[in-house]
Amino acid sequence: MRVASLGSGSRGNGTLIEEGNTCLLVDLGFSVKETLIRLARLSKTPADIDAILVTHEHADHLNGVAGFAKKYDIPVRMTAGTAWGADCAVTRINCHQSFPIGNIDVQPVPVPHDAREPSQFIFTGQHRERVGLLTDIGHITPHVQQQYSRCDVLLLECNYDSQMLENGPYPQRLKQRVAGIQGHLSNDQAAQLLGSVESARLAHLVLSHISEKNNLPSLATATAQDALGHWQGDLMVSDQQLGTEWIECPRNA
Ligand SMILES: [Zn+2]
Ligand SMILES: [Zn+2]
Repeated sequence: MRVASLGSGSRGNGTLIEEGNTCLLVDLGFSVKETLIRLARLSKTPADIDAILVTHEHADHLNGVAGFAKKYDIPVRMTAGTAWGADCAVTRINCHQSFPIGNIDVQPVPVPHDAREPSQFIFTGQHRERVGLLTDIGHITPHVQQQYSRCDVLLLECNYDSQMLENGPYPQRLKQRVAGIQGHLSNDQAAQLLGSVESARLAHLVLSHISEKNNLPSLATATAQDALGHWQGDLMVSDQQLGTEWIECPRNA
């Protein structure tokens, strides 16, 4: 199984998960034209995508979904809450129940975020490899902590540095929203999760949804590194413009 980010941040998100001939796209916050360019960078076309999963209805995750899905006839799945008012045909998912799509098993994980029914996802491949995607979450719940243990690859939100958010350009109400219990994850909260989950299997950590105004990749990286101590894996940042290259998920015996 392998995973790649098309781009990550408040101006648009999209993640590809591929196992054998199954390829899933999670969220799409880019225009059709922009998406084609980003897919081409990863040697993919719309015809390769078997389904689009949507985490929640915020524009940076949903804006590109309906147009792309209708143009290329790709099935879309999301929770009933997220689907409310969706502009395309949707198969509803139960955010407590796993389901297969082709070679990939999808486990939704409900998260606290200021959306109608937000769900993040954990993907399991044919060799029991686990890829966790976790962004747009205001705080870590016990359920999240339990679910995201034993991932081989983790794409984890490090949205803001508390100091930078406090001193930054956002109006007070927006600062409160971002830092609130249904907002986004700070570097310190992400570090707290990393310190509390079983990370022996973790081979690749991808710091994601990094704010361009309230954070720096260097700060997020340093905080995560600190939390992981002597961890020897591969630590990278998913960029808003560039996303990531394909990341190969190690096979489990
Ligand atoms: Zn977002
Ligand atoms: Zn959001």
